[in-house]
Amino acid sequence: MDSLAQLLFPPSCLICGAAQFDICGKCDARIIRSQHRLDIDGVRLWAAALYGDELAQIILQAKEENSSPARNFLVQLLVEACVQALGSSESSADLILVPVPSRPSANRERGYRHAYLLTKGLAKELKRRNVGEVAVREFLRVNRAIVDQSNLNRAERSRNLSGAYSLQSRGKTSLRGSAGSSFFLIDDLVTSGASAREGLRALRAGGIYPSALLAAGVSPGVSGGVFS
Ligand SMILES: [Zn+2]
Repeated sequence: MDSLAQLLFPPSCLICGAAQFDICGKCDARIIRSQHRLDIDGVRLWAAALYGDELAQIILQAKEENSSPARNFLVQLLVEACVQALGSSESSADLILVPVPSRPSANRERGYRHAYLLTKGLAKELKRRNVGEVAVREFLRVNRAIVDQSNLNRAERSRNLSGAYSLQSRGKTSLRGSAGSSFFLIDDLVTSGASAREGLRALRAGGIYPSALLAAGVSPGVSGGVFS
C-alpha cells in the first residue's frame, strides 16, 4: 500500500479494529492452527486452522464483502495447508488447483467467485515460491438448484449437495497437457465435508482423481469418523 492510501485508509484489524494490522497479533493468536488430518472419501484433507469466531468473521468478510485483506489471510492459510500437503505426498511438481463451485446466483449477487479468487491467490503465492507449474482450473459447476448451506444440518447438507456438481462443458475442462499433474480440490472451509465429498464425486466421474483437499479452515467437530 502506498503512503497516500495508507493515510486515507489506515489498516485496521479485521476482527477487533485495532490500528495497524489487517489481523492484529491478539486476534491471530486466537485462530488455532490445525494439526489433525482427516481423509474424506479416501483423500487427505489439509486444513490450516480450526474454525472459530475469528475465522468465521474473516471468511464472511472475504466471501460476502469482497475484503482483500480477509481474502489474503485465507490465502495464507491455504498456502500453509498446501505446503504441508506437498511436503508429505508424492505429488508431482505440476499442480492443478480446482476450486469448489458456488451457486451461480451467489456468484452473480456477489459479482465474483469466492473460492476461485482464493484459489487464484493460492496459485500466485505458490508460483512466487517456485513450487513448480501451477494452474487453476474451474472444472466444476453447480448443475441444479441448491440452497445456502449455512443453516442446514449435516444430513441436510449432504442431501442438498448430492449430485449437485458436474464438470463444466467440454471446452473449459480440457485435460490436455495435464497428464501426470496432481489435482488439488480447494475450499475455504470444511464443516460437514458435504461439498468436498460432492466435488470429489463429480471430478472422479469425469476421470479426474484429486490427491488432496485443501481448506483454510476445518470445524473442530469433524474428527472422530464423521468423514468415514
Ligand atoms: Zn484484532
